[in-house]
Amino acid sequence: MTRNLVETKGLKKYFPVKAGAFGTTKDMVRAVDGVDIAIRKRETFALVGESGCGKTTLGRLILKLLEPSGGEVFFDGVNLQDLDRRKMRELRRDMQIIFQDPYASLDPRMRVGDIVAEPLKTHIKEQTRREREEEVAKLLEIVGLGRDAASKYPHQFSGGQRQRIGIARALALRPRFIVCDEAVSALDVSIQAQILNLLRDLQERFNLTLLFITHDLGVVRHLADRVGVMFLGKCVETGAVTEIFENPLHPYTRFLLSAVPVPDPHKRDREKILLKGDIPSPVDVPSGCRFHTRCPYAKGICRSQEPPLRSENSRSVACHFPLSGV
Ligand code: SF4
Repeated sequence: MTRNLVETKGLKKYFPVKAGAFGTTKDMVRAVDGVDIAIRKRETFALVGESGCGKTTLGRLILKLLEPSGGEVFFDGVNLQDLDRRKMRELRRDMQIIFQDPYASLDPRMRVGDIVAEPLKTHIKEQTRREREEEVAKLLEIVGLGRDAASKYPHQFSGGQRQRIGIARALALRPRFIVCDEAVSALDVSIQAQILNLLRDLQERFNLTLLFITHDLGVVRHLADRVGVMFLGKCVETGAVTEIFENPLHPYTRFLLSAVPVPDPHKRDREKILLKGDIPSPVDVPSGCRFHTRCPYAKGICRSQEPPLRSENSRSVACHFPLSGV
């Protein structure tokens, strides 16, 4: 029995860039470019990185909402590429997603009860209408909305309440794994904390494994057990959240963390990393280490050889010269 619920091996997604009157493929956007990560059962794994680093695409590849250009995804030891449509449909019950924008992700013409009931209707055909309504009422109570919410429309709720509706819908089939894609980014800070607390409670109550995709390292510190840092389609560092925050090994991780406010006054003099230039394009990925055009520690080898993701003691880093040894 594997202790990982999700594993990716060499996972890739390239999108063609079309040009000309005939729409011929001119280039490829290497959105995800060979990612190996492992998410343990019942943990919260946060995927962090700047906008455009490929984290959302990676989340969708894991859920098989996108077909990979290469590599594999394993769910509880099963290779998703080996599943036919029927088996994949069954497995979908176990894997759900909560979207970033609670305003856009709910159909404004549907009542909340119908929105939450949708996955039940699709996957549990034998359930009677009455049983389904009872289940929806229970779900709305679980996420703190109350059963009356079922008869209302999304526009009658605030942003935080709408995100609770999205969570109720994601929970409907009692999944084992939920991808939370920037799930609190569109909310006010005080509401964010309530939704994060709700997710933490639900994780414990339902033994959930969460993949939290975010650019906000404050959220990561609050919620995650382990972190994967992405840069330009690659995972450059993974580790326990405390280790990553205390002792980042990759220069890019150190840079991301230097922008996060530090609560402990003794640690406020942490060395800041200033990067040169702009983020390179995923169409024209730099040779060798793809961070070398921005990295203040780059040396000759960094321009020619891509550093592999090396692991030791549950810590991984892809750098020829990690900031302290791994
Ligand atoms: Fe910087 Fe070189 Fe490490 Fe890349 S491999 S992060 S360029 S030191």
